[in-house]
Amino acid sequence: MDFLKRLNINADSKGISTGTKWLTGSRNKIQSSSPVDGKQIASVTICDKKSYDVVIDTAQKAFLEWRLWPAPKRGEIVRQIGNELRKNKNDLGKLVSYEMGKSLQEGMGEVQEMLDICDFAVGLSRQLYGLTMHSERPGHRMYEQYHPLGIVGIISAFNFPVAVWSWNSMIAMVCGDVCVWKPSEKVPLCGVACQQIISKVFKENKVPEGVCNLITGAREQGEWMTEDKRVALISATGSTRMGKAISVVVGARLGKCLLELGGNNAIIISENADLDIALVGSLFGAAGTAGQRCTTTRRLIIHEAVYETFKKKLVAAYKQLKIGDPLQPGIHVGPLIDKDAVQLYLDSIEACKKQGGKFVVPGGTLTGKGFESGCYVKPCIAEVTNDMEIVQHETFAPILYLIKYTTIEEAIALQNNVPQGLSSSIFTLNIREAELFLSQAGSDCGIANVNIGTSGAEIGGAFGGEKETGGGRESGSDAWKAYMRRQTNTINYTDKLPLAQGIKFTV
Ligand code: NAD
Repeated sequence: MDFLKRLNINADSKGISTGTKWLTGSRNKIQSSSPVDGKQIASVTICDKKSYDVVIDTAQKAFLEWRLWPAPKRGEIVRQIGNELRKNKNDLGKLVSYEMGKSLQEGMGEVQEMLDICDFAVGLSRQLYGLTMHSERPGHRMYEQYHPLGIVGIISAFNFPVAVWSWNSMIAMVCGDVCVWKPSEKVPLCGVACQQIISKVFKENKVPEGVCNLITGAREQGEWMTEDKRVALISATGSTRMGKAISVVVGARLGKCLLELGGNNAIIISENADLDIALVGSLFGAAGTAGQRCTTTRRLIIHEAVYETFKKKLVAAYKQLKIGDPLQPGIHVGPLIDKDAVQLYLDSIEACKKQGGKFVVPGGTLTGKGFESGCYVKPCIAEVTNDMEIVQHETFAPILYLIKYTTIEEAIALQNNVPQGLSSSIFTLNIREAELFLSQAGSDCGIANVNIGTSGAEIGGAFGGEKETGGGRESGSDAWKAYMRRQTNTINYTDKLPLAQGIKFTV
């Protein structure tokens, strides 16, 4: 495990940092073990309330200074962070794969996303544009500008242990905010490694202590941030259950929330689809990352004319899937994150059977050599109806549901008829179907694709979803606006003071 050494991960790692300094924290530790082989990797200090307050105080002080740095200068820091991440890409990719369980290729892909968002944020640092408007009053000018918010609390999920942090923090940093990151308790070492990497850049550039902070812990530490008035924006990625709990707490103090929650993503496969590319999109979408992406394909809504043909192709493709150590080349499916996730997968299979689902590719756990961690499961496929309770629910595991349809209107209604609204797609070569799917009468999701699957996204677009997915948008396009406060300015350059709407107020 040389990569751990190179990333400065010790058996007994510190987990609280204000940038370049590391704090002591409580005596309690999180034990991080790998779902790949079940071995313990390292322990990490949990943040206690005292250290939490030190972190927030430091962040508040840093903000007063950091907000005065010109945005392109802040962008220069992000550029250097991108370079440092580039140097560490292989090691960080391996750590992501080992601590979280996704394939090495996907681990590297996740680090690539970090590099891409750094590049994006550097450009953005010169493009934090506001609009100018024409005033209705003579001799007046109106415009709007964006100012930094303050402290951004980042709460992240286990399945994208490094990318989600970078989507938030690189954009927040160029916007002039300071960040406090609480990674998932299931992957704390990924957080420690990122902090080690950026601390070098901070030291070299004399960045104020407290611009990028790390606190390690679980729900409790997340709750400290959501309850804390000093944290201007909570950007939380995780389950809908977590998002509902957070939005109540942050809403009660009228704080800002950016929520990126669960999905229940479907692909419509039309009778006019190129079935070969639909097969690749469905297979990667459903089985990739062992079904542990928010954009994982959970449902295939297939036209009755191609249903049997496509099902046969899919079942044959599932037989080719290689399950095993995700760090080895050629492996398609790694483990689930932990044994609790395996139990949820097994429970969902049982529930599906009870509710009338018929498995055409059976599920189950894998045992024996190479599967000692107890976290490896078989990707499976069931024929269902959309209204089954289990189908309405996001099970974070590789269970794919097949649903048959007759008309395109029916397929779109089925696709929309779930509580979540993250990612969706249609495979069709028929322009009318594709345009209907993308129209206001089409998909109700934050992401709607044509002839590519639901899984994954490029950083250039705004990422997020509707309904129980939480409504937040992160990453590209104008998602940066969530990290700033908007101010409208009116300037009078005359010696008169005309009132708006022609009102006269004379004494
Ligand atoms: P989770 O909800 O169990 O935990 C996510 C984070 O929230 C963790 O850091 C956890 O400690 C923290 N947390 C939990 N309850 C909290 C509370 N009440 N207050 C404050 N913090 C709290 O999710 P998970 O199992 O780590 O991740 C899987 C889920 O995340 C799936 O539902 C998946 O779809 C979703 N996800 C969504 C996106 C997206 O962009 N929409 C991206 C990745 C994952």
